[in-house]
Amino acid sequence: MTINDTDNWVDRLAQSIPTGNLIVAPNRRPSYALIAVDSDPTAEIGKAGGGQNVYVRELGLGLARRGCQVDIFTRREHPEQEEIVENSPGCRTIRLTAGPAEFIDRDKLFEYLPAFIDAWWVFQLKSARNYTLIHSNYWLSGWVGLQLKSHLGIPQVHTYHSIGVVKYQGMAKPPAIAVTRHLVETACLTSTDCVISTSPQEVADLRQLISDRGRVRVIPYAINTSHFGSIARTVAREHLKIANDEKLILYVGRFDRRKGIETLIKACATLTKPFRLYLVGGDRTSREECQERQRIQHLVTELGLEDATVFVGQVAQTELPFYYAAANVCVIPSDREPFGLVALEAMAAGTPVIASIVGGLKYTVIHRETGMLIPPNEPTALAAAITEVFDARRC
Ligand code: UDP
Repeated sequence: MTINDTDNWVDRLAQSIPTGNLIVAPNRRPSYALIAVDSDPTAEIGKAGGGQNVYVRELGLGLARRGCQVDIFTRREHPEQEEIVENSPGCRTIRLTAGPAEFIDRDKLFEYLPAFIDAWWVFQLKSARNYTLIHSNYWLSGWVGLQLKSHLGIPQVHTYHSIGVVKYQGMAKPPAIAVTRHLVETACLTSTDCVISTSPQEVADLRQLISDRGRVRVIPYAINTSHFGSIARTVAREHLKIANDEKLILYVGRFDRRKGIETLIKACATLTKPFRLYLVGGDRTSREECQERQRIQHLVTELGLEDATVFVGQVAQTELPFYYAAANVCVIPSDREPFGLVALEAMAAGTPVIASIVGGLKYTVIHRETGMLIPPNEPTALAAAITEVFDARRC
């Protein structure tokens, strides 16, 4: 797989929209409502967002560059947040008030969706914009999109980002919302006009675990390659004050059990020192992420890796290219990964990736070409792969 640039990706998305030639309609500027209840595209990525925020933001900006009017609807999470933010000419973020203006865990958001829809109608009446397409992101927005579609009679495109039945597989006690989520995710597949899937694995999961009905197109995520691929290793190391001969293993991502950081730490405990392990990410305002970070810190101490490990914390997207460029290897040890933008970002920097052979990673990493694919949850296999990359690169 090649690393798509965002412009290409937006073109493919625009072409897949099942509404004839909306993008080039002669007399009418297409107007898209992107619904992203739980992923504000203006959130500082790494602080309050992940891959889904990046996807929504890049899609909105890209469609606007092609002449569409794009409104991205999200939920207000702070009383001082402005209602309307101009992201770029033609692309706005609209923050609707639905429930308390504070962060609410995704699993508890469903009850606020009727209020979100009410606020959407109020805004729509005020702005008098006639949307020609709805693009919903994640199941919560999928539900909102389905309600709006039934009233407005316009097409809806949906992107899952994650599928409940896959996420809850093997979980002893799935959350109470799991059943509702499954029903909504089934409706998103069977009743929207097109599902944009990010990997062939996701399509297989949709077909096996949800329904064989509904139109699906695979369009993998893309990244801005010039942003991530513009820095030389020596420049990056100088910037980050890392010695040129230091062996550097990099992890970038949220602190979440399913990201497999534990496997990485156990693998590192068996490597020959000296080396450095940089752990980038971890939202300090999230209780779950703080708990996982503490658990990982204990493991690091227990396995004697304190000197080698640096908990870098969150890094803004503008700074991240330095970390990717400085690293000898970027490890994505996830147990489950719907897509995994980090793999593309590291590859754009020319840094080898070692990733678990799961989800979208199976298709983004080319084994022994752009990196290595290894079984998840296997520290020994991961340690062997890291050693092989170090040896091949003579680091
Ligand atoms: N990210 C970031 N700063 C951090 C940690 C992560 O900007 O400190 C970004 C990273 O560059 C990527 C996104 O967060 O664009 C994570 O996306 P991915 O698909 O890998 O994982 P997700 O968070 O969606 O599970």
